[in-house]
Amino acid sequence: PTAPTIMTMNGHFGAVGEKPTAEHFEHGIQIIDQEKVFNENLPAYLQSQKVLRAGFNYHLISVFGSQSTGKSTLLNYLFGTEFGVMSEADRRQTTKGIWMSRNKKEDATAPKEQRMAENILVMDVEGTDGRERGEDQDFERKSALFALATSEVLIVNIWEHQVGLYQGANMGLLKTVFEVNLQVFLKDAKSVPRTLLFFVIRDHLGTTPLANLKATLSQDLARIWSTLSKPPGMEKSQIGDYFDFAFVALPHKILQPEKFEQEVRRLGTRFREGYKDPKGDGLTDDRDEAILLPAYHRRIPADGFPIYAKGVWETIDSNKDLDLPTQQELLAQFRCDEIAKEVLVAFDAVVLPLEERQAEGVASGKPSILAALGVAITGARKAVLANFEVEASRYHKGVFKTKQAELASKVDGRLKTLFNGQLTAAHKAGLHDFSEGVSSAVKAGQKRSNGYDFHTIVQNEKTKALKAYETHAHTSLVEGAPWSNYQSQLNLFRTEVDEASARLRKEEMRRLATRSERWVKAKLAESVGLEFNKLGSGRGGSGAPAEGEKPATEKDLWDRIWNVFTETVSHAETRFTIRARSFDASPEEVEVGLWRLRRKSWSALRDKIEEEMMEGNLLLKLRENFEDKFRYDEDGVPRLWRPTDDIESMYTRARESTLELIPLLARFKLSTTTAPPPLDAWIGEAPAGVTAADEEDLHPIGGVDEDEGKTLEEEMTVLSEAKRADLATRFKKTADGVYVEAKRSAIGGMTQ
Ligand code: GDP
Ligand code: MG
Repeated sequence: PTAPTIMTMNGHFGAVGEKPTAEHFEHGIQIIDQEKVFNENLPAYLQSQKVLRAGFNYHLISVFGSQSTGKSTLLNYLFGTEFGVMSEADRRQTTKGIWMSRNKKEDATAPKEQRMAENILVMDVEGTDGRERGEDQDFERKSALFALATSEVLIVNIWEHQVGLYQGANMGLLKTVFEVNLQVFLKDAKSVPRTLLFFVIRDHLGTTPLANLKATLSQDLARIWSTLSKPPGMEKSQIGDYFDFAFVALPHKILQPEKFEQEVRRLGTRFREGYKDPKGDGLTDDRDEAILLPAYHRRIPADGFPIYAKGVWETIDSNKDLDLPTQQELLAQFRCDEIAKEVLVAFDAVVLPLEERQAEGVASGKPSILAALGVAITGARKAVLANFEVEASRYHKGVFKTKQAELASKVDGRLKTLFNGQLTAAHKAGLHDFSEGVSSAVKAGQKRSNGYDFHTIVQNEKTKALKAYETHAHTSLVEGAPWSNYQSQLNLFRTEVDEASARLRKEEMRRLATRSERWVKAKLAESVGLEFNKLGSGRGGSGAPAEGEKPATEKDLWDRIWNVFTETVSHAETRFTIRARSFDASPEEVEVGLWRLRRKSWSALRDKIEEEMMEGNLLLKLRENFEDKFRYDEDGVPRLWRPTDDIESMYTRARESTLELIPLLARFKLSTTTAPPPLDAWIGEAPAGVTAADEEDLHPIGGVDEDEGKTLEEEMTVLSEAKRADLATRFKKTADGVYVEAKRSAIGGMTQ
């Protein structure tokens, strides 16, 4: 078969790449050649005859009989076929192997009761010459088996004068048919299709009525049946269990050509679909009765016929047991797989590009949302399953069901992946857009003079995000797919949006905290600075105290600082709480925020004190304090030194008074208790909700953070011993300078 061959009018041609066309099949197709090789072009033939896609809407008829009994001639008259016939002149056998041709007499315009069934395929089987030749008998047996396995009707062509010749070639053939029937249908008695044996008696002279011929033939058939050795369990089986019989007689073609043609035409009309339920007693003798009964149909879908026929033939030809139910299951498996592949082509055309786009999105880290995914894949899913069902449901039910489930799970597996990928993309995009939306709304709000309402921003963005997610999910739904729903994914999305908004709220809390801390810091810079400035005046305050306020003294400096500090922070705390509550911060979150604010505020105060305590600053304050005491009298009037003044003792008093400030300044303690302020109690225990992140930027505070190993006393130490001593020394030097100056001015005043 590898060597290119020239087309030989039998449909066996094989130049590589050559596609058979209708004209190659003018004489039909030799489906099995004289070498017993099955023709691979059968699908192409059925395609060219528009039978391949006919499903069950076709019929198969075979003709049997001795050589040169006018079989091919009869078929050509009946069906308009062009099977080769022996020419009158050279009388050689013409039909070799098995030929097939489609009925060409089909005529949709013919009256219904005469209209032939659609898509009748006729097989012309090579006849035997009646001699006992081994080779011949082998083919006869094989072709009988093949015809029986495939055909609804077996036409048995016989000369009238052969009727009753029990030993004749025809009877041998029938015996073979019956034998193979028992052999083939032994396995599964229930699935045995019936077969019509249609006897066509040729050259009927008319002297013996058809009824008599029929009776003779029936007796002969019964006799043959009785002589067959039947397999165990089938000893009682009757010929009528498997076969229906019909008989027709035709006039002599040469002697009565017109009558012959007329009867053949009449015979042709019987190849109609009938609906009689055969009961094994044969058809009636009605000469116009329809013979193509549903019970005869082999139920092999047309598109599976070539493979089935090939499988059957190859099993027969290799002398293996022919098991039709197994053949049909194998066929179903093969065809269902093929059909699945065919229907997946259209499915892939829609789904593959979507899968690719999704995979690209995932690979790039930017999952893309596929527009109108649901509509596209619902259509593809419906089509692939429906198309499979149409084609494949004609095959073995069990196999079909299994393959249908396989296909559905394959299709649904892919679509589910697409669907879930889509939800994942919508989820990611949704979370991203939500966070971005909140951030940019906050940024815009920060630029506005009237600020922004964080809670409203979050609610708006959340509504938008959920709506967008639902829209994407909804338009991705696959109608009819049991797995197609997104409730749990939507819930997960909602949860994660809530988590994201909790994170954003935390960020907003931080921003709020930063603003509060800055505010506290600015306030303290002003008010604490003011308190320290008062030190510059030796009478403890500049100007008269406001009404109701205790006059400030140097002694209660720290009390005033503590008060102004706690009041400032308390004010900030109130504002913080109100704002935080406005965007749904939880009581725990507020607690943590306030705790942090107090600690940060304390640090700010410490920094401010540190700044005031810088050596230069302090020395300046002490000098001012001293000068105020030394150079001004009780009424704040500058002294003019006179030589009689006791400058020395005034100097000593003022100096000692100012020096007393150094130990006072060195420790932060309240005058009422002489103890440090209750910083630990004021800051309070760390709330339960404090996380590591909350503590990250906090400075340790002595006496509050016990594990820091620093006491509250140490926390409150503003000046170290050494600094105090150093400060005192330097101050004294400054004071000495002032004293010398005073002395000089007293003397100078005298001399002037
Ligand atoms: P096949 O071998 O059975 O296919 O027979 P053919 O159709 O090739 O015909 C064999 C010979 O019988 C040909 O010469 C035909 O002309 C002739 N023939 C065909 N039909 C009839 C018929 O009805 N009566 C007679 N007597 N001869 C026929
Ligand atoms: Mg022939």
